[in-house]
Amino acid sequence: MHELSLAEEVIRITQHEAAKNNAGLISEITIETGCFSGVEIDAFRSAVEVMAEGTLLAGASLNIVIMKGKGYCSGCDKEFEMDNRLDTCPMCNSFPSQIRSGHEFRVVSIVVEKDNGEG
Ligand SMILES: [Zn+2]
Repeated sequence: MHELSLAEEVIRITQHEAAKNNAGLISEITIETGCFSGVEIDAFRSAVEVMAEGTLLAGASLNIVIMKGKGYCSGCDKEFEMDNRLDTCPMCNSFPSQIRSGHEFRVVSIVVEKDNGEG
């Protein structure tokens, strides 16, 4: 049920932004998620769709960008891209000593349509 609370959070953030910008409607939301965030994209997308009913977000298009993770090998002092948690250092084949990114989940942009009273 992780996806439901994320959906709730995203709706809360976008509504806050919409209010700040005096927006009549939100037309587009872009979210970046790391490939290790554990978020089920389809479940998240349908949670947003359901919860957006009757809000400024209803009908907004939801862009979800999946970011690769980054690992760091201290032996080789090398940072490398990871597609999954079992990826190893391309130089020495060890597991990364640090996972530097891949767990993020954030709203990166919101496109609003101003309700300026015309039309
Ligand atoms: Zn290495």
